[in-house]
Amino acid sequence: MTAVQPKPSSSVGETFDSLSPATDEVVGTYPVHTAAEVEAAIARARAAAAWWASLGFDGRAERLRRWKGVITRRLPQLCQVVRDETGKPLADAQLEAVLGIEHIAWAGKHARKVLGKQRRSAGLLMSNQAATVEYQPLGVVGVIGPWNYPVFTPLGSIAYALAAGNAVVFKPSEYTPGVGKWLVDAFAEVVPEHPVLQLITGFGETGAALVGAGVDKIAFTGSTATGKKIMAAAAATLTPVIIEAGGKDPVLVDADADLDAAADATVWGAFSNSGQTCIGVERVYVHEKVHDEFVAKVVEKSRDVRAGSDVEAKYGPVTMPSQIAVIKRHIEDALSRGGKAVLGGVESVGDRYVQPTVLVDVPEDSEAVQEETFGPTVTIAKVRDMDEAVDRANNTRYGLGSTVFSKARGLELAGRLRSGMTSINAPLSFAGIASLPFGGVGDSGFGRIHGPEGLREFARSKAIARQKYKAPMTLTSFSRKESTDALVAKLITILHGKR
Ligand code: NAD
Repeated sequence: MTAVQPKPSSSVGETFDSLSPATDEVVGTYPVHTAAEVEAAIARARAAAAWWASLGFDGRAERLRRWKGVITRRLPQLCQVVRDETGKPLADAQLEAVLGIEHIAWAGKHARKVLGKQRRSAGLLMSNQAATVEYQPLGVVGVIGPWNYPVFTPLGSIAYALAAGNAVVFKPSEYTPGVGKWLVDAFAEVVPEHPVLQLITGFGETGAALVGAGVDKIAFTGSTATGKKIMAAAAATLTPVIIEAGGKDPVLVDADADLDAAADATVWGAFSNSGQTCIGVERVYVHEKVHDEFVAKVVEKSRDVRAGSDVEAKYGPVTMPSQIAVIKRHIEDALSRGGKAVLGGVESVGDRYVQPTVLVDVPEDSEAVQEETFGPTVTIAKVRDMDEAVDRANNTRYGLGSTVFSKARGLELAGRLRSGMTSINAPLSFAGIASLPFGGVGDSGFGRIHGPEGLREFARSKAIARQKYKAPMTLTSFSRKESTDALVAKLITILHGKR
């Protein structure tokens, strides 16, 4: 049997167990926070937010610098907590933590430049005004996280929200509360004065309480279905939301591509972390000239890839037990509709571990091509040319990441893909570049974390126009003269009236 979580409950004092998905062992026990407890956390956060904002960019950058130092020095400890709760190999836990640390560093270092006061041109008609814009903190941000990358993913919101001057109330997934607690405790060591970053734990009910409690923004990462519920609930209080949801990311392989590199990227992108990666590779479209060779290379490179909990295993168990049935259904649907498994198949799906599965000839309208599988499976399809590859890649509800392997046409094809991010000739590289915005389109959500765009998501623009001197013509007064109106009409014709 796979790990089963206890039923949610919302009475004060209730707790839930965090279980190892590899052994079902209890690795921690956490409170199921009630709506009243969530509200109390937000009230504490309001006071903390004012203090944190008063530290200014430099004061906050210094604390964030110290936080990333603590995380870096205790990396093995954090990685063990990640492994205990997700089952992923320690090296994979380290990779996601390293990327998370990079984001804390980038957000702290660049917040002043991105969010500090900037001058804007006032234009000819308003040339007596000085125009400036600055980005002020929102106040309290609620961050709701998933379990698949429990360090990297929430830090993509938390680090940027903190750097922008907000307090954060963080609700990690019920599958990874220990990782959330570890991060929040490490932050409290370097910011002991006020609860600037707080942890609340529990199930969907606790997350819903956070959404309804009047925070200034919700940054949600998780499934599309939950994202829709959160957006609907947030509408009641007009709380703005960022939705970082699921994906069905494609890889395009052109006739001139480096096939070894493309096959390697496909195998890693599809199977690492047991396929439980929002920007993981789920579909591949390959030029007909190189299709058969590519499939052979993918199968060959997959032979040594195995799920398990021993140190030799390349990836771990399926963290969320309910996903096993979804993975199985997608493979069965693909095979029953004419698809073929060139590696693995239904028998690859165990109670806890799923071995790699490579599917070909799968109809485009099947679940394995259209829906997020979130397991170590991949479909490979042959295309006439790269126009067909782009059309088919763009033909899902999702649009998170994508990858192109092409020597001559990488940039052109990348620009035509309907997704928030694309990497060319390497897998998922955009996620490791802290200055690049991260987020999706369509059912993959909206809003951006990471980079300057990620900092601005957690701030409100404040525009200020300051009169430097009295204008020769007053436009905004009842004392305005007819001669002024005539002059304005002449001026606007000169400025914008050209044919
Ligand atoms: P999930 O939607 O089941 O849960 C995510 C979080 O939402 C959890 O903390 C959960 O407790 C909370 N939640 C559940 N119901 C809620 C409600 N009604 N109100 C408020 N909060 C609620 O997702 P998951 O299974 O934890 O994560 C996997 C999904 O996340 C996949 O679809 C994956 O693609 C996606 N994901 C997306 C990104 C991205 O950046 N776009 C990153 C990682 C994961």
